[in-house]
Amino acid sequence: MINNYSAGGDIEAWCTKCKLELGHTIIAMVDDFPKRVKCNTCNGQHNYRAKPSEKNRTKSKSSSRKTKSQKTNYNEYISRLTGADLSNAKKYSIKGNFEQDEIIDHSKFGIGIVLSIIQINKIKILFEDGPKLLIQNNESGIPV
Ligand SMILES: [Zn+2]
Repeated sequence: MINNYSAGGDIEAWCTKCKLELGHTIIAMVDDFPKRVKCNTCNGQHNYRAKPSEKNRTKSKSSSRKTKSQKTNYNEYISRLTGADLSNAKKYSIKGNFEQDEIIDHSKFGIGIVLSIIQINKIKILFEDGPKLLIQNNESGIPV
C-alpha cells in the first residue's frame, strides 16, 4: 500500500465499535502514519488500527486456552533464544547432563532451551512448539 495518508483522508481501518474493517477518516497523523481515525459508519473516534488486535480477536472468538498458551510459549521461546549462540547448542542425548538455560539441539524437536531441572534425570525443555519433559543422565541409554 502506498503511504500517502494525510489528515482528512480516507483509510480502511478496523473500527473498535463496529467490529468491522470499514472506511474511516484520518483525524491525526504521527510520523506519516495515521494515528487517530473516525469511523464513517458510527462516527466513533479511536486510534487507528489496521486489523483487530490479538486481544479483541481472542475475546470475540472466546478461543481456547491452548492456543493462547502455545503463543505464550512461542513468544518466550523466541525471546529466550534471541541473541543466543545457536552454534553452541548441545546435542540432546538421554545420557547427557544439561543445565538450566542451556541451549540444546534435539534431533526431532529442534533447538530448545532448558527451562528447569526437575530431577537429576528429568528436565523440562522449551521447544518451538512448547515445553517438553525429557530425560537426562540416563547412563543405561534405556528410556525410563
Ligand atoms: Zn464504526
